[in-house]
Amino acid sequence: MTKLAEKLEEFKKIVSEFPASSGVYLMKNQIDKIIYVGKAKSLKARVRSYFNLKSQSPKTIWLLNHIAKIDYILTNTELEAFLLEASLIKKHRPKYNIRLKDDKNYPYIKVSSEHNYPRLYLVRKVKKDGGHYFGPYTSGLHVWETIKFLNHTFQIRDCTDHVFKTRSRPCLTHQIGHCTAPCVKLVSQKVYAAQIAQALLLLKGRDKELLKILKKRMKAFSEQEQYEAAGKIRDSLEALKAIGEKQSVISTQSEKDQDVIGFEGDERGCTIEVMHVRAGKLIGSQAHHISWLNPKDSDENPQDWLASFLNQYYEENIIPDEVVLPVDLGRDINNLISDVLKENVLAKKLKLALVAPPMGKSF
Ligand code: SF4
Repeated sequence: MTKLAEKLEEFKKIVSEFPASSGVYLMKNQIDKIIYVGKAKSLKARVRSYFNLKSQSPKTIWLLNHIAKIDYILTNTELEAFLLEASLIKKHRPKYNIRLKDDKNYPYIKVSSEHNYPRLYLVRKVKKDGGHYFGPYTSGLHVWETIKFLNHTFQIRDCTDHVFKTRSRPCLTHQIGHCTAPCVKLVSQKVYAAQIAQALLLLKGRDKELLKILKKRMKAFSEQEQYEAAGKIRDSLEALKAIGEKQSVISTQSEKDQDVIGFEGDERGCTIEVMHVRAGKLIGSQAHHISWLNPKDSDENPQDWLASFLNQYYEENIIPDEVVLPVDLGRDINNLISDVLKENVLAKKLKLALVAPPMGKSF
């Protein structure tokens, strides 16, 4: 009997004592370092499957060669196991788990909620702090341009909170017509909130709604012979038209926010792409490369690796109305992921629907 076969037999015996309940298993190497974390509905069945494989993938053989010990943590439900798996991966960063790198921090636009007169920021992380976040976008430059455009169009302040607090007179931004000067109360909180609401409509991709509001307002100003105010709105309308022409429209029917996920890979690794479609417009995409994952390997089950990816990805990113998956993960896993995402959504008061196309394929 080879050394590996002996090891397999030894582990089969150990695993036969594992409980058939839900939990998380931790594979450790000789120096007690966690090299793989997995979740299971039945710990016994899941871990046993590693040692019963007829043809083992390079990843499984690597794991078998390096495992010295397997521990487990029992959970009350599979949902708990799923959540625990994500936090353990984040904490221990095991070599053979899907680990999303932090090095590519994509830019988001944040509209602060803690200030009576909010402003727009570029941020690189989404936090559950009650702020409105939009993105992720592909380039920081694009985000800065968008913020500048929104500030100018809707006359939103661009000063820091410290400057805002210390002003006794409006700054140049007000003098050139790009800010309504809330710092010295030249605008009421209600009117300023309406300015922000218009910027939010545009960020949410609801430009049709915004155009309607602005046209109505322009008409009202013209009828009241307030031509300067009407002219400003006309400029905004033109700027909005120009920005609309630059956006890639995926669907004019959908008002939903969707993330569309696809993957492609072979023995050189796998790239998972998340495309962000907001109200029918593609606003950006994120690509993640997992060097050890071969999605074409029959041992690699998307119910494990794609579910684990979603679990981690949506811990850090905005959860849209719908997530369109490239493969059908089955009703059980879909429900589980929906429940996990809903846990996060609750904090953000967003609605979630998880959609898997019936004939899903990688693309
Ligand atoms: S006018 Fe006041 S609120 Fe507006 S940008 Fe200048 S300092 Fe800020």
